[in-house]
Amino acid sequence: MKPDIIDEQNLYRIMEEAENSSEDAAYAILEKARAKEALGLDEIGALLNCDSPGFRDALFNAASEIKNEIYGERLVFFAPLYVSNFCVNDCAYCNFHSRNGDLKRKRLTLLELEAQTEILIAMGHKRLLLEFGEDPARNGIDYVVSVIEKIYSIKKAQGNIRRVNVNIAASEREDYRKLKQAGIGTYQLFQETYHRLTYEKLHRGPKADYDRQITAYSRAFEAGIDDVGLGVLFGLYDWKFEVLALVAHARYLDKTFGVGPHTISVPRFCHAQTVNYQPEYRVSDEDFLKLIAILRLAVPYTGMILSTRESPQIRKTAFKIGISQASANSAASCGGYGKPNNEEAQFELHDQRPLYEVVSGAVDDKLLPSFCTACYRRGRTGESFMAFSKAGEIHNFCRPNGIFAFAEYLEDFARNGIYDKGYALIHFYINKIEDEDTRRRTLARLEEIRQGKRDLYF
Ligand code: SF4
Repeated sequence: MKPDIIDEQNLYRIMEEAENSSEDAAYAILEKARAKEALGLDEIGALLNCDSPGFRDALFNAASEIKNEIYGERLVFFAPLYVSNFCVNDCAYCNFHSRNGDLKRKRLTLLELEAQTEILIAMGHKRLLLEFGEDPARNGIDYVVSVIEKIYSIKKAQGNIRRVNVNIAASEREDYRKLKQAGIGTYQLFQETYHRLTYEKLHRGPKADYDRQITAYSRAFEAGIDDVGLGVLFGLYDWKFEVLALVAHARYLDKTFGVGPHTISVPRFCHAQTVNYQPEYRVSDEDFLKLIAILRLAVPYTGMILSTRESPQIRKTAFKIGISQASANSAASCGGYGKPNNEEAQFELHDQRPLYEVVSGAVDDKLLPSFCTACYRRGRTGESFMAFSKAGEIHNFCRPNGIFAFAEYLEDFARNGIYDKGYALIHFYINKIEDEDTRRRTLARLEEIRQGKRDLYF
């Protein structure tokens, strides 16, 4: 029996009915979202359909307000680490596809892994997202676990990786249990497209099984992983359908497991070296930003992730209207840090700025660059994280914790004039901490960091 997660007919009905909804109705829905009332799928459909330029501004303002209220000024940075490009699948949009005979196949040895991790630590990263192609013989779960353990064991004078998120192919419960035991942060898996026929057309190999993919998140929950990340590769199918399906999937998880996804990623199709696929449903910059703003309103308590597939200009706007986490200074090839190789990358990147430049740009925009991993280490994950974020507690913990992690970054890695403007921003936000005791304790810990203490958090 097919799992009842996405009701395509219902989504088409919503999209059709939305064509008759008025601009006034869309403005009324924005007000509802501002009041943090949950929006129905029909209402999200109406927002997707409203196209006037005036409405777009109002939508961006509302999304930006919600983002600030719930997530505040923090922008969390991480780096992907491609561990193995061996893959038995043939996905139309990916350079690691199994027909790519020109690609030098590689799986990092533990020594190479250590060298890549050291480069990332030296940049200032504290969070990684590990990427593996699907290849049970070469990238089996025991190898994945050994990679995670190795990364956590690497401690350098400039710090260590404190949170390892993982992207592996749809797996069985037993494998997810092993991931959980290895101490992963978020398990990320993209559905790529929720449209079944398109999904089946664009994939070959074990990944072509739509039901295996869409039920993987449920198996992960059942195995005890309570932070999962959803995602769609925008461009494969109608973006309005995909947004509705993402929200439907998030609500299904919330209803079934008592907790929605921790994050939603919004990658957009990018060309890759041996990929001839031309997306039929290319998403314009304007529509892309609009869908980010609508997702921000539709799932306000779910983090949203943007990669370096996007240009610095798009990222700058996206950070304001909804994105809470972003990769920076990424290499999309296996072993690519220190040895960039565009031909071997999974796809083209459009923001290749070094981390310090991305950090500097964020500070100029009054965003607090964060490398914080406190919640995960304090056990504030899954249901407990959601309860805490819905109670508005993110501000009380995340602002000081974000400040501590950024101060560490400034002490250990700041260059090119970031130090002074970084601390000016830190003090700007410390002054916004309302509770006097928290403000005092934050200042005290900040001083400890300046004196050389590390890894402090509430
Ligand atoms: S998208 Fe993933 S599964 Fe598909 S070919 Fe690329 S690495 Fe393999």
